[in-house]
Amino acid sequence: METDFLLIGQGLAGTALGFRLKEAGKSVKIFDRPDLNQSSRVAAGLFNPVTGRKMVKTWNADLLFPEIIPFYRQMERLTSRKFLREQGIYRPFLSIEEQNEWMGNSAETRFSQFLSAIHQQSQSPFLNDPYGGVMLQNSGWLDINPLLDGMQAYFGEDLIRNQLDVSDIQQEGEFWVVKNIKAKSLVFCNGLGAMNSDFFNFLPFAPVKGEILEVKQGFSPDYIVNRGVFRVHLGNDLHRVGSTYTWHDLDQGPTESAKKELTERLSGLIKLPVDAYISQKVGIRPATKDRKPFLGKHPVKQNVYLFDGFGAKGVSLIPYYSKVMTSFLIRNTPLPQEVDIARYFNYI
Ligand SMILES: Cc1cc2nc3c(=O)[nH]c(=O)nc-3n(C[C@H](O)[C@H](O)[C@H](O)COP(=O)(O)OP(=O)(O)OC[C@H]3O[C@@H](n4cnc5c(N)ncnc54)[C@H](O)[C@@H]3O)c2cc1C
Repeated sequence: METDFLLIGQGLAGTALGFRLKEAGKSVKIFDRPDLNQSSRVAAGLFNPVTGRKMVKTWNADLLFPEIIPFYRQMERLTSRKFLREQGIYRPFLSIEEQNEWMGNSAETRFSQFLSAIHQQSQSPFLNDPYGGVMLQNSGWLDINPLLDGMQAYFGEDLIRNQLDVSDIQQEGEFWVVKNIKAKSLVFCNGLGAMNSDFFNFLPFAPVKGEILEVKQGFSPDYIVNRGVFRVHLGNDLHRVGSTYTWHDLDQGPTESAKKELTERLSGLIKLPVDAYISQKVGIRPATKDRKPFLGKHPVKQNVYLFDGFGAKGVSLIPYYSKVMTSFLIRNTPLPQEVDIARYFNYI
């Protein structure tokens, strides 16, 4: 069976790229083994245009954010499922100085499309926000599991739910051959799987473990609260609370220390006890040393590509970069240097 593209991995990256390639009229086969690390299935799914302790605009936000909502809405229509939640993100101020600074920021056009309101007073007796806070817009969260499940049905027989052992792939003339599939091109979209493959292990991946809780707690506003920790309402007073960042003990499962850390941070934000702990999940983000994605073509092997390295921000990055990658794959449109893996070829 011949195909234009053989993709390895059906996390958010492989799903988006597979979809874009099919839309462009290309044939695609995807291998995915669901029980390997699947960062996408653990992720909270937030997309947040202004992040970090210092509240700076997300890298490339002006390019990325216009793509997010139309892209996921298109997938919703395709799968007849709802998984995109457009919601404000409320970030309490820590001081009157910060409030003043944001009053100033609100006049700047570079922030205006992402700012909904500056509140100078507390928004709820249940919130620890004595100086008010900033409400962001053009933000929200993606419920990634129903998206991936829905897209499995869309890919149908083109999705092979099995591990692809990279050493089984043989080059035969112009084709990459594995099992009964002959592919013109091979695209690694397998998150940290690529780090351990002979093809792309020379790249500086920097995996980051993350843990996330689901808790039952009162106070369920229609916005996300985010300061030190985020809290997303899932319905019926259930909330997702996360995430931790650790660079060690990657193989260890859920830890008590992460549960404690998240609970402490949550109590600094919400003035109510946790009624119950529902679950604790752990995943490893496919992050990179320079925090930029990995897109591009293998330096030596013919027609072997990588679409990976989306770290902690796959939901925001993947809609735009799957478009860029598709154009590169089918029209050879040059990749932006900052994401092109060629930036590392001097070090091989
Ligand atoms: C705790 C946590 C919270 C997060 N929160 C957010 C958030 O709020 N917002 C956000 O944007 N991002 C978040 N992320 C990051 C997000 O999960 C990633 O950016 C994104 O999901 C990466 O998608 P991916 O498809 O590249 O990788 P993955 O989701 O890891 O997918 C890779 C896939 O490849 C498969 N695979 C690997 N090797 C093989 C093989 N040899 N054969 C077959 N299949 C293979 C795996 O099984 C997997 O399905 C979070 C991550 C974690 C861990």
